[in-house]
Amino acid sequence: MLYRLRNDFHLSVITLMNACAIVGITPFAVWRFLRGEYWIGLIDLGILGAIVGATLYAWRTHKTACTGLFLALVPCTGGAIAISLTAGEVGLFWLYPALICSFMLTRPLIAALLPLGALALLILEGSAFSSSQQIWSFSVTLLVVCACTYVFARRSEHQRNRLKHLALLDPLTGVSNRRALDEALARAVSEHERLGTEYGLVLADLDHFKRVNDTHGHHTGDRILVDFVGVLAFNTRRSDQLFRFGGEEFVILMSGTTPNGLQAAVEHVQSVLRKTLTSPSGPVTASFGTAILQRGESVDHWFERADEALYRAKSLGRDRIVSGDRSTSEALS
Ligand code: GH3
Ligand code: MG
Ligand code: MG
Repeated sequence: MLYRLRNDFHLSVITLMNACAIVGITPFAVWRFLRGEYWIGLIDLGILGAIVGATLYAWRTHKTACTGLFLALVPCTGGAIAISLTAGEVGLFWLYPALICSFMLTRPLIAALLPLGALALLILEGSAFSSSQQIWSFSVTLLVVCACTYVFARRSEHQRNRLKHLALLDPLTGVSNRRALDEALARAVSEHERLGTEYGLVLADLDHFKRVNDTHGHHTGDRILVDFVGVLAFNTRRSDQLFRFGGEEFVILMSGTTPNGLQAAVEHVQSVLRKTLTSPSGPVTASFGTAILQRGESVDHWFERADEALYRAKSLGRDRIVSGDRSTSEALS
């Protein structure tokens, strides 16, 4: 639970909003009932119920984006409009927390349009305001808060996306890194269990790369790594995912593949590598270990089978593909 709160920004915002709503709205609901203002009390309870229900839904389904939109639209903006229409000008104040919550829950543009739409509706209806001066001051203050929050939200959205990008990408080659690989493998195993999607794993490791580095220097080594990634990326399907596992070892995760399809895809990559990947002293080759995900298999076991196959490819002489799906350790090319 704590792990999800720490790693899922939207879920943590939804949960925080849920806690604030319980603490902030419950006393108002009780107070309204005690004063005999049952309609407003019921609206307060409706807002609370929608927030608590949506939070539980987000925890159960992981669908935080649509839950955030629902919360911004229904309990936040809709709730603030309903309170303003029933309680009058004191209800208008709720548009401000609704605005802030909307910015945390959904895209900045939608979040900016919601309170402005609510304001237009309330001005047209008219009963929430007691004077035209009040309409002007309320509109101007809401617009200023909305504009400032929009600029701030756009900036932090951009920074959050950039951080996510940096945390999951390898800076040298631009492909996804090991952290992204761990997440993708876990997703693949769970999708295989739920939907039966077939997944193939390919571990690719450059042969004698240390020798290339020692002879021609790290700059040349880096250039070869980038070329290697180019060959892997351009000679696999768009749906195949490529990761740098570490050093000169890369992983390709293929979905919707069969053992024969996996073998053919890696053979194709290998043939292109043999023709194109070179160092100043000649061709650079790679070895491959492959494994198709089996029913009920864990990420670790699946990865281990591909790794053992790669190890066999190395010990059998390198520049070859070995499948971890067969019990024998035959080299296939
Ligand atoms: P093998 O055929 O058994 O795989 O031999 P190898 O020399 O490729 O394997 P080893 O694991 O001994 O060496 C890997 C080398 O990869 C060691 C390190 O210098 C090099 N390397 C790792 N990361 C980088 C990198 O980012 N840039 C460069 N230029 N070299 C790297
Ligand atoms: Mg190597
Ligand atoms: Mg290696």
